[in-house]
Amino acid sequence: MNILVINAGSSSLKYQVIDMNNEQILAKGNCERIGIDGAVTHKTSDDRIFESNFDLPSHKDAFRILSSLLVDKKYGVVNSLKEISAVGHRVVQGAEEFKSSVIVTDEVLKKIESLSVLAPLHNSASVEAIRACQATFDNSTPQVVVFDTSFHQTIPEKAYLYGFPYECYEKYRVRKYGFHGTSHRYVSKRVEKILGKPPESLKIVSCHLGNGSSICAILNGKSIDTTMGLTPLDGVIMGTRTGNVDPSCVTFLMNQMQYNAHDMDIFMNKKSGLFGISGISSDYRDIKKAADSGNKRAKIALDMLSYQIRKGIASSAVAMDGIDVLIFTGGIGENSHCLREDICNHLNVFGIEINKMANAETIHGKEGIISTENSKVSVCIIPTNEELMIAKDALKLTTGNLHL
Ligand code: ADP
Repeated sequence: MNILVINAGSSSLKYQVIDMNNEQILAKGNCERIGIDGAVTHKTSDDRIFESNFDLPSHKDAFRILSSLLVDKKYGVVNSLKEISAVGHRVVQGAEEFKSSVIVTDEVLKKIESLSVLAPLHNSASVEAIRACQATFDNSTPQVVVFDTSFHQTIPEKAYLYGFPYECYEKYRVRKYGFHGTSHRYVSKRVEKILGKPPESLKIVSCHLGNGSSICAILNGKSIDTTMGLTPLDGVIMGTRTGNVDPSCVTFLMNQMQYNAHDMDIFMNKKSGLFGISGISSDYRDIKKAADSGNKRAKIALDMLSYQIRKGIASSAVAMDGIDVLIFTGGIGENSHCLREDICNHLNVFGIEINKMANAETIHGKEGIISTENSKVSVCIIPTNEELMIAKDALKLTTGNLHL
């Protein structure tokens, strides 16, 4: 059973073909610069690599190239598109309409489109990609949508409401939705493999730390709070995003800098965060290198990151009245043992103790436990795999196999 997983942005379309019999990736690739000019990279598990520039005016054109690559004599991984059992699409915003993954129907597409006001760039691109995919696969292959927000639909009212008048929630749907749900769900389920205990019996704090970062409190297998909010701008400081700030800073700076809402949105999402503080880069590795060679602003940026993550972990633990497991995932969480050490060394209040050697060795895609025998909390490194989670949902919904 092969599943095609699609992650579509407004100008890109990332894909993976996963053989669900062994959960191995057969091929993955990216169609980039859609609507600009167009570039395609495609790589198979046995290292057959295709790279070329193509005219890609729309997602439809990207699917045309992608589908021909999948069956290509030289670069293909299936004999015919019929060997793709289902397609799973990542969708950013499902709001309260989608509490779990669903099979695509016309009504589902209309609902996703209607949520575009909450995620203008992302949801419209997803709908465009799904329609293009339906046309390519001739409607004969089932399509499933998996939302970044669904996992967080179990967050209670007291945690998802903001202190605006209640009408803002009713009329404008302003509330915390949370993101990275597929990643938090995947890593929390993996805990069972690593610790031999089901997530349903645990208090888990999951830290997804990448270009975008969020921390999630998972009680008995369900998200009960997370740091991201109405949008992925909230929470801890990120590559180019501010994270949480006093809301008055926004109006104050708009006045000072004569920015309109759009300018301010770009400023907070693209020009701020670790990049804005360090003045060097949004990439953790560049900032670490600069901090190690004495750059003060780079050092402050990293101190802010560690401090805010610690506070995020602590508030997640308080939300659950305890913590049994702490998970690190995402590009930074999976690789930066220095940051993990710094964070964990400041969490004595929870009885967290890590093994330095195990921590330093568990990088580059390795999964493992880095806490000591004495630690009151199990600290786990779990490389995330959102694509596999999407593929599992697609398979489950289209074959009815609920034991996946
Ligand atoms: P995204 O949120 O875009 O999916 P990733 O999860 O890939 O991002 O994370 C990107 C971040 O991970 C970057 O800040 C990058 O510097 C960091 N990162 C990647 N590899 C390493 C590494 N070996 N050591 C430290 N940080 C790393």
